[in-house]
This record gives sequence, structure tokens and C-alpha cells, in this order.
Amino acid sequence: MLAAGRLAEARAELDKISRLAPGTPELAGLRKRLDTETEELRRQEAEIAATAERQERIAEAARLANEQFARGRYDDVRAALDQWAALAPQAPEAQALRQRVAAALQSLRTYELALEQKQYDEALRVLSQLEKINPADPAIPEFRKRVDARRAAASATLSIFRLGPAATLLFDDKPVGEGGEVQSLTVPTGSHKITVRNSQGRQFEKILEFIDGQTVSFVYDSAGPLLRDFQESDRDRIAARDVREQVRSFQVEHRHTFGSCRGQLHISGINVVYEGSDKSHSFNLSFDQVTLEAREDRVEVETKDGRRRWNFKLPDASQVAQIQVLWERLLQLGK
Ligand SMILES: [Zn+2]
Repeated sequence: MLAAGRLAEARAELDKISRLAPGTPELAGLRKRLDTETEELRRQEAEIAATAERQERIAEAARLANEQFARGRYDDVRAALDQWAALAPQAPEAQALRQRVAAALQSLRTYELALEQKQYDEALRVLSQLEKINPADPAIPEFRKRVDARRAAASATLSIFRLGPAATLLFDDKPVGEGGEVQSLTVPTGSHKITVRNSQGRQFEKILEFIDGQTVSFVYDSAGPLLRDFQESDRDRIAARDVREQVRSFQVEHRHTFGSCRGQLHISGINVVYEGSDKSHSFNLSFDQVTLEAREDRVEVETKDGRRRWNFKLPDASQVAQIQVLWERLLQLGK
């Protein structure tokens, strides 16, 4: 009976023998053996119960971790994982889940950073990544909405300055600016087309990418054609442009071979214009087309091809000196 593990029956039998034949010599040895076997059985039963309880607690920790993961509550998943690991340090499912949590949290950090840096495409890319790691994360649609809202409100500030003559400026084919320039215009972000069309109808265009919060400045030379980023040195070029474009007018007498006409000589770095009382002597030529020479109380204007020439008398020599200084400066700026 002992060998068969029938301990209760064995004990009853031993009690019977003790009553009927108390002097049986094997009795003490058998009773001791019975006690040992009973003790061992209790120990085994307790161990089975303990193992079952531990399995239950592991299952509960696993269930909790997975549930929190599905809710996208990654900090709570980590707490549940710690409990799980304390009960079952090597559980491969727990290790796999821990890696997914780490990856999800990394995606969320990258997402926040991308939003902060106004890189909306990057933010959306990271959300797709998160969706692969945890398709159940209920916050993903809200994260996407945040990107869309930010993008919709996104804008950049655009300025365009001219180095030379004014051109018509178009932003996505719509005229912008005034006098061929754009000053701090708020524009939507993304890809947009800037077109520069000069007075001869010649045009060139550029597709540019505008980022949220960005302030961008360009300069163009419609004769170039050229449209490029504004540089510090362009301040001097624009200042020079203003000087070139400034018109100075002088009262002059146009000397003919016989007699004269009177009028106004207008000089700028763009044009040289004479408005004479004799309309047939008036002209409007580009600065580059003519030369000017000062002689005592008069100036001589001549076309570079040498075909036309005008002799203007000024009221006094100081004005001739002024014109000479002006002309030298304009020549210098035009270079
Ligand atoms: Zn004349």
C-alpha cells in the first residue's frame, strides 16, 4: 500500500496493527516511513498549487500588458511588462512586446520632433511607421489630424527684390507685389511657382519649396534672366539701383548750328531724356546708348554709334561740373 501511494489506507492499517499487536517490531519503522511519504506528498501538492498560481499571475500580467498596448498606453505597458518579467524573466513574448513598445515610443518622439520642426511629411511618415508597430493605437487618427491642421495653418514669408528694371511677378500664375517687388508676403507652404516676366514679355520661372515659418527673400534681374536667394551684398546692389534710377533734371539750351531751343535734360542711370521746346529735337535714349562729355559751360551728348549728337548749354559751369560728377558715378554703378 505504501509503495502504491495509498497513504491514508496504509495509516489506517498501521493503526489497526498497533491496536491488535502493539509489540510488532516493524511498526515504528513503517510509521516513520509513512510520515516521510505523507510529508513529501503535501510538499508536492503545495508546489503544484504554487506553480498554478504563478502561471495565473503571468497570464494576468501578459493580458494587462497586451491590453494597454492595444490602447496605446505605453507607460502602462512598461509597468505590466516589469511585473511579467519579475514572474517570467525569459518570456520571449514579453521581450518582443518590450521591443515593440520601445519602437512605438521612438516613433512618437520622432513625430513630436518633426511637428516641432514643421516637417509635416516626415511626421506623417513616422505615423505610418507607428501604425505598422501598433495598428490598434487609437491615438493615430488624432495625430494625423494634428499634422493636417498644422499644415493647413502653415505659411512662409516671401520677399522678392529687383536688381534691375521692374518685371511683373507672378506667384502660382497670379500677379503679386508692387513695382516689381514683393515685401513680406504671406504665402502657403509647399511647392509654388514664381514667374518673372520682363517688359519685353520674356519670362522665366522657378518652382520653390516653402516651409512653415520660413522667411525667404529672392532677388532677380529681369534682363539676366536670374532669380536667386537674397545675399547680404545685394543691399549694396539695391542701393546702387536706387541711385541709378533717380532722375536729375537740368534746364538747358540746345544749341543748333543756327539758333537754339530750350528744354529739360533728364539724366538717370537708366535713361537720358531731352524734352525740348522744339519737339522734333526731343529724345529718349537708354543710358547705355549714349556718351556724355562736359566742356566748360556745356555738355555734349552723343549716341555711341556716332550718328546723333546734341550740344547743351547750361546756365553756369557749376551745373556742368555736377552733371560730370553724376555721369561718372552712373558709369561706375552701371558696371
Ligand atoms: Zn533744339
